[in-house]
Amino acid sequence: MNNKLYLILIPLICMSMVGCNNNSKNSQKPVTHNEKSDETVKAFKDFDEGMAYQFVKDQVDFGPRVPGSKAHKDCADYLYGQLRKFCDTVFVQNFKSRVFDGKEFDAKNIIGSFNLETGKRLLLCAHWDSRPFADYDENPENHNTPIDGANDGASGVGVLLEVARQLSISRPNAGVDIIFLDMEDYGPTDDYKLRSNTSTDLLWGLGAQYWAKNPHVLGYDASYGILLDMVGNSNPTFLREQYSDYFAKRVVDKVWKNAAAIGYGNYFVNKAGGIVTDDHVFINQIMIIPTIDIIHQDFDSPNGLFHENWHTLKDDINCIDSKSLKIVGDVVLTTVMNE
Ligand SMILES: [Zn+2]
Repeated sequence: MNNKLYLILIPLICMSMVGCNNNSKNSQKPVTHNEKSDETVKAFKDFDEGMAYQFVKDQVDFGPRVPGSKAHKDCADYLYGQLRKFCDTVFVQNFKSRVFDGKEFDAKNIIGSFNLETGKRLLLCAHWDSRPFADYDENPENHNTPIDGANDGASGVGVLLEVARQLSISRPNAGVDIIFLDMEDYGPTDDYKLRSNTSTDLLWGLGAQYWAKNPHVLGYDASYGILLDMVGNSNPTFLREQYSDYFAKRVVDKVWKNAAAIGYGNYFVNKAGGIVTDDHVFINQIMIIPTIDIIHQDFDSPNGLFHENWHTLKDDINCIDSKSLKIVGDVVLTTVMNE
C-alpha cells in the first residue's frame, strides 16, 4: 500500500468530508477507548496459529511474489490449490495489468466462496503479490531488490487461508467470499511520485481496481468487506484507519467491538489511525461495499505509520509472530460466524 508522504496529500478533501460527516452525526455517543465486552458476541477461537504461520511461510518460501516471476506463478497455483481444498467454489480472474513504468503483466485475482447461493455475503480480502522494490531499505543498494513480503502481503493471505480452513469445518450461515488480490504493491517509488504532477493513487491496488470493475459474479454485492494487510508483526496495534471510518464506520465499530468482546481490545485500539490508500479504498469507491482495512499502524515508526520493516529486505519470515496471526484470525472468524 501507499506510503505516508503520499497518503497525506490525497485525502485532504476526504478529511474535510470526514469532518462534515462527524458533525452531522454529533448526537452519537463518542467512541470510547476499549469498549466494554458485548456478551451477545459468541467467541470463535479455534483458529490455529501454527497452521496460519505455515500458510505464510509456504508463500514466502516461493521467494518474492513479484508479477512476472516464477515465484508469482507458483504461488498463484498454490493459493488456488489451497482454496480448492477449503472452499465450495473457486474462481480465478486472469487479467493484464499495466504498471506505472509501462510494463504489462499477467495477473490473477483468486477467489474462494462459501455458500454461493446465500444472498447475504461477506467479503474478506488480502493482497498476495509482493513489492518489487525495497525502496525503504536502509541500504540504497537494495532499493530495486524485491522483498519477501512476509508481513506485507503474505500475513493477510495466511490468516485468510486458515479462516477458510476453519469455515470448511464450522460452516458459516452467511455467504463468504475470500479474495486474494494481485498487483496491490507495484505502485510507484517516491522518486517517480516526486516527478509526477498528478495524484498517483490509481497506480496502486490494480488487482482490486480490476475486480471492483469486473466482479467475479455479475452484479456481485456484499454486506461489508474486511481487508487484512500487514497483520503479522509482534505486538500489533490496529488503529481505526481513516478511510475505513469514513466509508464503513459501522463495520469498524462492529469489528473493534467483537475484538474487545473476545479479549483483544488492547490490540484493536479504539483510536483514529492514519489514512492508508489500500485495496479497500477502490472497493468502497467502485463497488460501494463498505470495506475496512485491518492494518498495523505506529505513528512512532521511522517511516511515520507502518511497521519499521515495511518495504525493506527485513520484511521476511522473521517478522512474523504467529500470536498476531491468531489475534486477527480470531477476530475475523468471530465476526463472520456471528453473522
Ligand atoms: Zn506494500
